[in-house]
Amino acid sequence: MTDLDEYGRTARAWLEEHAGDLPREPGLAAAKAFMAALYDAGYSGITWPAEYGGQGLSAAEERAFQEAAREVTLPVGVFGIGLGMCGPTLLSIGTEEQKRRYVRPLLRGEEIWCQMFSEPGAGSDVASLQTRAVRDGDVWVVNGQKVWTTGARQADFGLLIARTDPDVPKHQGITMFVVDMHDPGVTVRPLRDMTGGAHFNEIFLDDVRIAADHVVGEVNGGWAAAVTTLLHERVSIGMGAARTERPASFAVLARAARARGLLDDPAVRDQLVDLYLRERAFDLFSARLSQEVKAGVEPGARGSIAKLLLAELTLAGPDVASEVLGTEAVAYDAEREAGGEAGDADGGRIAAALSFAPGMALGGGTNEIMRNIIGDRVLGLPREPQVDRTVPFRDLKVGTQAKEAGR
Ligand SMILES: Cc1cc2nc3c(=O)[nH]c(=O)nc-3n(C[C@H](O)[C@H](O)[C@H](O)COP(=O)(O)OP(=O)(O)OC[C@H]3O[C@@H](n4cnc5c(N)ncnc54)[C@H](O)[C@@H]3O)c2cc1C
Repeated sequence: MTDLDEYGRTARAWLEEHAGDLPREPGLAAAKAFMAALYDAGYSGITWPAEYGGQGLSAAEERAFQEAAREVTLPVGVFGIGLGMCGPTLLSIGTEEQKRRYVRPLLRGEEIWCQMFSEPGAGSDVASLQTRAVRDGDVWVVNGQKVWTTGARQADFGLLIARTDPDVPKHQGITMFVVDMHDPGVTVRPLRDMTGGAHFNEIFLDDVRIAADHVVGEVNGGWAAAVTTLLHERVSIGMGAARTERPASFAVLARAARARGLLDDPAVRDQLVDLYLRERAFDLFSARLSQEVKAGVEPGARGSIAKLLLAELTLAGPDVASEVLGTEAVAYDAEREAGGEAGDADGGRIAAALSFAPGMALGGGTNEIMRNIIGDRVLGLPREPQVDRTVPFRDLKVGTQAKEAGR
């Protein structure tokens, strides 16, 4: 048995002991306790640098762990933005002090992170953001509003992008900051979505004072910093989803179609084959991307391909489920399940997938934006015209500036 086999065997035994009986969605305290135990056992941040609290091991150990974890659903969702986006951004462009201060507690689940980019008037075109940060001696004073911030109510820290120079074109006057979400000037309000849950939030920032050493990357270099985070986000969404269970999968729905005598219906067969092909395409592409990342190859804009394939697959599964299961696909009693009663577990999961699916085509960048990026940066097609790229931000008619200009 090689050392790697031994590593995988030990990891599997640890997971069986600690993750085997966890509920599907444990509470925050249980999720934090699990993350701390995972870290203490040496399985969080396997390839992250040891000097900042990672394990400093190779891609081979990470692969062995992922293999061991394939059969278990780890309760790490609430840490996903920190682990997938904020942590990697800090490691890429954070200062030495920032890496030493934040990375270890993030890996151990002691501190939760969120990402504050989108605003009511700046989503796809996030460079049009209007949240302002004004320098006042040793601090920056931030005012503005963010929206759709996943996990903000649980978060201790957030990566924020704000406008620090309105006199230059929109991409050039933005800075990234670490924000303490417990600051009295930060108000977080939940937004209920169509799944029945409130996964994301709106955030109001009123005179939030941020120390100058909380800038991530360069002052007015926040666009490059944000692109770093978004690249990590797309790769992480794509790779993370490759490991999560799919309630409306080909396997589940083909079984359901057989049980209902629908397998001879050419329309149903056609849809099932289409779903199978999408699953295979996504799994193979994300496996390749994941091996590249672990081998140190930067996927760059190709993360957008994984994100797009995933969003299309996420929409296709529940579509086929509606065809195969009919009304059963939406016969989901959220109240009963929330109350802990045994409900229609499978139907519930498919119905939840159905209402969650459109979100996957928006969060982390919409399908249209993914296609633009793939066209521009992967296929080398001509760039989309951007007439406002050279105009000072102050003169643009965006967000509330459009209203102020009487438009
Ligand atoms: C589940 C979920 C989680 C999220 N989590 C976060 C988070 O944690 N932090 C955060 O900052 N944001 C988050 N978001 C916000 C997300 O990033 C935005 O919703 C997304 O970028 C789109 O912005 P918008 O909603 O303002 O839509 P808009 O940008 O207004 O787009 C509206 C429509 O126009 C299309 N469109 C826009 N521009 C173009 C173009 N140039 N070419 C072609 N079509 C175009 C879009 O594709 C879309 O169909 C989340 C969203 C969701 C759904």
